[in-house]
Amino acid sequence: MDINNNKELINKELIGKEFKCLDHGFVRLVDYMGDDAAIVQAARVSYGKGTKSVSEDTTLIRYLMRNQHTSPFEMVELKFHIRLPIFVARQWIRHRTANVNEYSGRYSEMSDEFYLPEISQIRSQSLVNKQARSEMEIGTETSQNIISSMENSQKESYNEYQDYLENGLAREVARINLPVSNYTEWYWKIDLHNLFRFLKLRMDHHAQYEIQVYANTIADILKDILPISYQAFSDYIQNSVTFSHSELSLLKTKFANLEFDEVELKNSGLSKSEIVEFKNKIELLK
Ligand SMILES: Cc1cc2nc3c(=O)[nH]c(=O)nc-3n(C[C@H](O)[C@H](O)[C@H](O)COP(=O)(O)OP(=O)(O)OC[C@H]3O[C@@H](n4cnc5c(N)ncnc54)[C@H](O)[C@@H]3O)c2cc1C
Repeated sequence: MDINNNKELINKELIGKEFKCLDHGFVRLVDYMGDDAAIVQAARVSYGKGTKSVSEDTTLIRYLMRNQHTSPFEMVELKFHIRLPIFVARQWIRHRTANVNEYSGRYSEMSDEFYLPEISQIRSQSLVNKQARSEMEIGTETSQNIISSMENSQKESYNEYQDYLENGLAREVARINLPVSNYTEWYWKIDLHNLFRFLKLRMDHHAQYEIQVYANTIADILKDILPISYQAFSDYIQNSVTFSHSELSLLKTKFANLEFDEVELKNSGLSKSEIVEFKNKIELLK
């Protein structure tokens, strides 16, 4: 028995399908190479043993993730077609470890589609996080006025763009006044290790809502293709926390007498090696 998923079914349901993001965007998985089994296969190459039982393979993947043995995860590659507003693309492109080919506004006319936030996203500036919006919505009437005003200026700007083109202006110059809400498209290829890093940063609540929408959509695709690796990422990277030395020192003052009995540990869902690692961490708190 191995951990190969039902690839045929996954391919039929996922490859080529557009998963809608925001008002006019999407994520489409074009192709991928490798799955959970490919990670195990790469990790075991030094022993020449190939895959073992599902539980042993799962344990291995979780061990690799937990201990940041990242190179086996680089064996899996995924290629996406993404349609996204330019302001989201600007944040996305900062992840340099991918291969990108973007739609060219020099060769072709820019799309006439622009992102308009939903009313629930028209919020006031956060006072806690200087980069973010708060939870507070700005009254319905004001929000609707803001959305209408954004829509009008998008239309105006696109009409001007069309006028420039009709007057013979080069596409590469005509596009320069279009707003960053304009949609662009690209092909984006990345290995799984770097994709997890992208997801860690862009699914996080500190990331801008609009890029979170895309990151969450990609995560949903990964859950189907790489269920074991995704679960390990979720447990050990996405939903874990690290403490600084000073924070640990503070914790030590509170946890000097921290004890767990063996039954409690056995029923915790942690594997045997995780229990050993956990005990070692608890010792550090003392
Ligand atoms: C919430 C949030 C807010 C942000 N705010 C800002 C902002 O205000 N202004 C701004 O400019 N950016 C901002 N960024 C972008 C951020 O600084 C990073 O550029 C982005 O998250 C990509 O991270 P990365 O470099 O680790 O990723 P990648 O480019 O994918 O790189 C992954 C890792 O590979 C290595 N690497 C890749 N390329 C190189 C290289 N050329 N040299 C050496 N090592 C390399 C590094 O170890 C790097 O961590 C923000 C990001 C987030 C998530």
